[in-house]
Amino acid sequence: MPCGVKFVVVTGGVLSGLGKGLFMSSLGRLLQSKGYKVIPIKIDPYVNIDAGTMNPTEHGEVFVMDDGSEVDMDLGNYERFLGLKMTTDSNITTGKIFKAVIDKERKGDYLGKTVQLIPHVTGELQEWYKKVAKDSGAEIELIEIGGTVGDIENQIFLESVRELSLEEDVVFIHCTLVPQLKVVGEQKTKPTQQSVRMLREMGITPDFIFCRSERILLDNIQKKLSRFCGVDPEYVLSGPDLDNIYEIPLVLERQGVSEKVLEKFGLREREKDMREWKEIVEKMNNPKGKIKIAMTGKYMYLHDSYVSIREALRHAFGNLGYDAEIKWIETTDIEEGKLKVEDALKGMKGIIVPGGFGSRGTEGKIECIKYARENKIPFLGLCLGFQMAVIDYARNVCDLSGANSTEVDSKTPYPVIDILPEQKKINEKGGTMRLGAYPAVLKEGTLVRKLYGKEKISERHRHRYEVNPDYIDKLEKNGLIFSGVSPDRRLMEFLEIPKHKFFAATQAHPEFTTSLLKPNPMFLGFAKACID
Ligand code: GLN
Repeated sequence: MPCGVKFVVVTGGVLSGLGKGLFMSSLGRLLQSKGYKVIPIKIDPYVNIDAGTMNPTEHGEVFVMDDGSEVDMDLGNYERFLGLKMTTDSNITTGKIFKAVIDKERKGDYLGKTVQLIPHVTGELQEWYKKVAKDSGAEIELIEIGGTVGDIENQIFLESVRELSLEEDVVFIHCTLVPQLKVVGEQKTKPTQQSVRMLREMGITPDFIFCRSERILLDNIQKKLSRFCGVDPEYVLSGPDLDNIYEIPLVLERQGVSEKVLEKFGLREREKDMREWKEIVEKMNNPKGKIKIAMTGKYMYLHDSYVSIREALRHAFGNLGYDAEIKWIETTDIEEGKLKVEDALKGMKGIIVPGGFGSRGTEGKIECIKYARENKIPFLGLCLGFQMAVIDYARNVCDLSGANSTEVDSKTPYPVIDILPEQKKINEKGGTMRLGAYPAVLKEGTLVRKLYGKEKISERHRHRYEVNPDYIDKLEKNGLIFSGVSPDRRLMEFLEIPKHKFFAATQAHPEFTTSLLKPNPMFLGFAKACID
């Protein structure tokens, strides 16, 4: 008996990194605009339980969800496009699914049986897919299978969706690359043909092919792909390169993609509303100006480590009709004397010091914050950036010379940032930080309170250190305002300096709760101050 939920599965071919996630996020957005409730699942075929233990230089940013799970950065795109809050169950990894099956085996759930990849692991996966749909109340579930067809790693997941399609309504979309060779100037179809053939060998026939290419697919190429891949020409979709990812839903809409998917499921459009989205994309594509923003950090050679901040800026500036031009500043260069802080920040309309770990580059970050504070340049500090702002204030305003975080200098005379008491006894690294959404109470009359427009708010966290309570009095007496605190007043969550254009920071990560239609208030406030 089918469970009543419809499933759209996207698989990848030819290359990784073609943007299956963005395609699915966009399709999800369109299905929402037609009145359907959707929920995504992203499958990452690595053995790690989650992305929390992976180096962001290798795997991009670690995204944090409300429930405290640390997941692949693609989940961030789903939340940003769909305006949804998901749970850890929307991210399946090889590690998670094997752990679930092994835990069951140890408990004796399969007693007497030989536990096998098929049917036990594939069966567990199918149950997982259905449970996520049921828990979220979604009508359509979007399943993205990471990796590329032909990889050993994702075979079990492909098999699970093949089995799923024997009982349930499943639409398969295969995402491939149609390269255009410079010399011949022709769009080439062979990689797609071969990749579809490999998918068929796995027992899956695609209903749609989504072809990534430099330009829109030519008519004759679409027909050729249709003939060789056995897919109706109308279902060969074109995904040309775009500068603005938020335009993808509009490009898909012009090809009637969501209507075609609904039609396959025998469903109708209930409503149609992409107006607001279109308006913002229009504003983003025709900005009134570009505002220079400095971003400091150490993974500067891999901007994927900060993708949520970049998107949060685009949402905020885009909604205001502007664009942010990010200048990446490697703060180790500042502390090693290779770069002067005034040269690095010359002409910048705003400065962001984002989160991070370890000691490298922290002195350079503190110098940038001092410069922003003294020269009244809008400053936004996030997590580590918040902690560094406290250190600057302690050293340079409160005269606590040598103040530091014990993460950076365990012997500092003034440990203004120290490890959270509950973190002291933890030895394991995976999923053990202070993670996920925590409430904060915002003080009346502060900038932050004005930005959020309410007293009680919630933001996501990912840290081990906090403001040392022994120094709060001293910092506040010298003019620093802790404008947001945890409900028990034990943890400092937001800070600001009054009579500054915008000098605000938070122990949280507001970049994880922003969407195109609803930019995060901290970023919106920061953007307004930078534009001013
Ligand atoms: N390293 C700091 C801590 O653990 C900040 C973490 C972060 O910026 N995400 O508290």
